[in-house]
Amino acid sequence: MLRLSQGHLNLLQACPRKFQHIFFDRLGAPVGPEQQEKQIWGSQFHLVMQQRELGLPVEFLVREDPQLQRWVSSLISAAPDISIPDPQTSRDSEHCRTLNFQGYLLTVIYDLLIADNQQAQIIDWKTYPQPKQRRRLEQDWQTRLYLYVLAETSDYLPEQISMSYWFVQSQPQPQSLKFSYDRTRHEQTERDLSYLLHQLTDWLQAYQEVGADLPQVAEAAGRCSDCSFAVRCGRSAVGESPANLESAATELMPDLADIEEVAI
Ligand code: SF4
Repeated sequence: MLRLSQGHLNLLQACPRKFQHIFFDRLGAPVGPEQQEKQIWGSQFHLVMQQRELGLPVEFLVREDPQLQRWVSSLISAAPDISIPDPQTSRDSEHCRTLNFQGYLLTVIYDLLIADNQQAQIIDWKTYPQPKQRRRLEQDWQTRLYLYVLAETSDYLPEQISMSYWFVQSQPQPQSLKFSYDRTRHEQTERDLSYLLHQLTDWLQAYQEVGADLPQVAEAAGRCSDCSFAVRCGRSAVGESPANLESAATELMPDLADIEEVAI
């Protein structure tokens, strides 16, 4: 069974051919040092927050990194209701859920899930400073999939569920964006997921049986000019330089980071 995260869905929706190149043809490249550093830092931050939730000491994790220590402290003071446990709620960090949907295993990992008998709140830490546009984030498969899977795998009604992103590096203090949920959004997400995954099933079958390539995004969408596969796709003069391949590989980094940061 193919396991799909929000990163896979975002890429599949943006360009099925790119999804093919990265996941089936394995045309990525190792992550460069700068990106690797950001990835390690993001993992460290998530690890500190997870340790805090478990009531374990974090001093040894932040001692060598004053910047990390500062951001953790800023987040705690900016979001006391989230960072200081309320005994009336249950909390679980790095909470993983899976949902079998049309033969695919949809997988989500919540940085923190806070719940009581009335509502459930999904929290996601973002270790980049500036929030994306609200509308874009609302349409991102992370928001949609995270909310959808919780509604499908719990007793909460969609209206009882929300998701908040915390951008821990925002200045002068961490900022958050909260998304509520309801039945209408839930049904729309189900329709969109169903459509996308039916397409994927057909494309996969053709790819496996006769080697047919997955479709390319329309050129007019303007995604190809800075894509690392532009030459391969006959869409641009931009070559598959190591830097471009690296950028293709790192496009999925937030998603991979979410999955890898679970281990302690
Ligand atoms: S060049 Fe365009 S069509 Fe080809 S993988 Fe990239 S985005 Fe898709």
